[in-house]
Amino acid sequence: HNNLSRKNMEISPSVTLAITAKAKKMKADGIDVISFGAGEPDFNTPAHIREAAIKAIEKGLTGYTASSGLPELKQAICHKLRTDNGLEYKPEHIVVSNGAKHSLYNALQAICNPGDEVIVPCPYWVSYPELVKLADAVPVLVETPEDNGFKYRIEDLEANICEKTKAIILNSPNNPTGTVYTEDELKKIADLAVRHGIYMISDEIYEKLIYEGKHISIASLGPDIKELTIVVNGMSKAYAMTGWRIGYTASNKTIADIMANIQSHATSNPNTIAQYASIEAFKGPQEPIQEMVKAFDERRRYMVEKINSINGLSCRMPEGAFYVMVNISKIIGNTINGFVIDSSMDFAEYLLDRAKVAVIPGAGFGTDNYIRLSYATSLDNIREGLERIEKALL
Ligand code: PLP
Repeated sequence: HNNLSRKNMEISPSVTLAITAKAKKMKADGIDVISFGAGEPDFNTPAHIREAAIKAIEKGLTGYTASSGLPELKQAICHKLRTDNGLEYKPEHIVVSNGAKHSLYNALQAICNPGDEVIVPCPYWVSYPELVKLADAVPVLVETPEDNGFKYRIEDLEANICEKTKAIILNSPNNPTGTVYTEDELKKIADLAVRHGIYMISDEIYEKLIYEGKHISIASLGPDIKELTIVVNGMSKAYAMTGWRIGYTASNKTIADIMANIQSHATSNPNTIAQYASIEAFKGPQEPIQEMVKAFDERRRYMVEKINSINGLSCRMPEGAFYVMVNISKIIGNTINGFVIDSSMDFAEYLLDRAKVAVIPGAGFGTDNYIRLSYATSLDNIREGLERIEKALL
């Protein structure tokens, strides 16, 4: 097959797929598996948003829209950015896409030339390195170590910047670590980016899922960093709308125009009905977010306390998103009940076989000393799942 696209043949399939596929098969075989793998809220899209979609269909609002999104939705996004984030943008700065992932794809396509380097935090969300490669650029992984709260150290960023560095990816609140950067930390990163003239791709998709501290958009820290930043956000996590596929960017006009042109040829407008539903999500009651956050927070506290009481496991308290990175460095290299555990994948397989619990091995995020547990599942499941893990480690 050496006449197929070399670049695209090198795109990795998800490392985490093996475990989730096995867990699915076990469930299908009637085995009671508890899954900590969820990457989406376990809540339904709020009723008023669903109804807005039904109304759009009934009114016949089912044709194409402007390929970069409905003007009314862009207005609602500008209003959101102004009131939530203190950011002034006009509709011409906004591009609405098929989910934040598509927005990230467009952003990287718009700014990268072959051989450019893009700094990616490690542990990373699985798609970042592959999205960078799809743009013919090179992902440069910069450690965000647990003893630094899973955040970038300025000196590490500085050490990895060279003339090829085009952008830094920043993700706060973070997947997979749940970490949230403070305003002070963001200021230092912004200063560095401005000093070197490096673009900032700020993935703020978990903005609304914060339990401690406050979300700050790095773009709001001054006109220079705003000019360099592509803010990426979307409906998936805040409004439990993962399947609706609406994300968006806010950026300077030049970048927005390039992204809009790419999208106009590649995909055209994102789903029209989902765009109408998104307008309602912004304009309608915001209480459903608060209810979801309350449930996540309760689960988060329970999960972290329980994990830290289990021999061999530890984790820091994440401030946002719905994931806990569990440190398994004390387990790696050991044999438990006859199983040799040499990697996060071994441990995930052990937990699935022995405890009927599915977790995501850290290897999928570039860090083998961890597993990721999602608390986007009921408190009952969390209790039962963690008890099973505890027993499997006795
Ligand atoms: N960015 C991060 C860090 C994510 O975890 C996800 C989804 O898991 C996305 C972006 C993509 O979200 P969307 O559903 O809007 O494409």
